[in-house]
Amino acid sequence: MNYSDLTKVVETYGDPVYVYDSSKIVTQFERLTQAFGSVKNLKLNYAAKALSNISILKLMNSLGSGLDTVSIQEVQLGLLAGFKPESIIFTPNGVSLEEIEEAAKLGVRINIDNLSILEQFGTKHPNIPVCVRINPHVMAGGNSKISVGHIDSKFGISIHQIPHLLRIVEVTNMNINGIHMHTGSDILDIDVFLYASEILFETAKNFKNLDFIDFGSGFKVPYKEGDIQTNVDELGKKLGSRFNEFCEEYGKDLTLAFEPGKFLVSEAGYFLARVNVVKQTTSTVFASIDTGFNHLIRPMFYGATHQIVNISNPEGRERYYSVVGYICETDTFASNKRINEISEGDILCFKNAGAYCFTMSSNYNSRFRPPEVLWHNGEAILIRERETFEDLIKHQIDVKDLFTAKKKEEKVMVK
Ligand SMILES: *Cc1c(COP(=O)(O)O)cnc(C)c1O
Repeated sequence: MNYSDLTKVVETYGDPVYVYDSSKIVTQFERLTQAFGSVKNLKLNYAAKALSNISILKLMNSLGSGLDTVSIQEVQLGLLAGFKPESIIFTPNGVSLEEIEEAAKLGVRINIDNLSILEQFGTKHPNIPVCVRINPHVMAGGNSKISVGHIDSKFGISIHQIPHLLRIVEVTNMNINGIHMHTGSDILDIDVFLYASEILFETAKNFKNLDFIDFGSGFKVPYKEGDIQTNVDELGKKLGSRFNEFCEEYGKDLTLAFEPGKFLVSEAGYFLARVNVVKQTTSTVFASIDTGFNHLIRPMFYGATHQIVNISNPEGRERYYSVVGYICETDTFASNKRINEISEGDILCFKNAGAYCFTMSSNYNSRFRPPEVLWHNGEAILIRERETFEDLIKHQIDVKDLFTAKKKEEKVMVK
């Protein structure tokens, strides 16, 4: 997609607006598939929470992807999008036994991440195979906000609890069909990842009826110039050959699974917003745009850097700006960033707006959530409408004259 394509989308659907380039999603899917070309059975389960629009899910399904889900609602969305139940894996954290049973009833694969639920589920449903989420206590990446494999993490069954896990499997006679880990959102260091994988292989040997080993995700994509990204080719070569070796040792061609979210959709997304006000203060120049953390929270929530381009003046000379939102709170998208000279009315484009952007949006300040547009074969296709005032009040219950009636009553009593 180029800037004139993006400008056309704004002219048609207004601003702010999310746009997703389908060809980028396809390219990323193929890149990862090719990197693991040496593995006989590879399954990519797209992590729905990154971007869960049903049209995006349908695109993933058409590519042969499975679906990684973290709530019963995501399971239902996946089924609605046409995924076969066996192509969906339910990988929740801290949900009730009832929710897991509901997912099992729908026929999807179950991934359990604590011993309490494992014991309860295995006791009630010994015939339903489950996958177990292991915490290898390896930290991939240095940011504690997004590394979930470490000792204080709430995710997974500790590698040190394997004896208890095996005891539960033995007494319930349940069947473990998969081993899973998801160490964090950044695979910065392939050797660290391979180290965690060895722990998983070692664990896998305890189970005789495995179908798959799921290595989770954490593929890093570049958000700004100079960012390191996961070298998927190197990872594919190294992990692929080690996996094949393990399968021989294990005596069965297992499936190697991954659950990429960010890697598949982050770079495909653009978020477009209009500059309402250019405000010169004593210390900086603010560009206030017609959005805020109600639509894009990653910069404030994670300190994420999203590149910003002024697509209304892409050739203009660069100046320093602080880009802020219209929410009545501090909602700074970027401080002192060099951006092509901004005039009021210009359209700013946030890159890497595919993953964890729309799905984290809210109605804070009683604003509408923006529309989503899919750019496919050179055409803009609306895949979600902009919300309306009706959406805002849809589930609110008006107490009618409850308070006015009370006032009258009080007056009567005074008399
Ligand atoms: C969120 C999540 C993913 C996707 O992570 P990305 O960093 O977006 O690739 C994969 N697996 C599980 C269990 C998750 O919770």
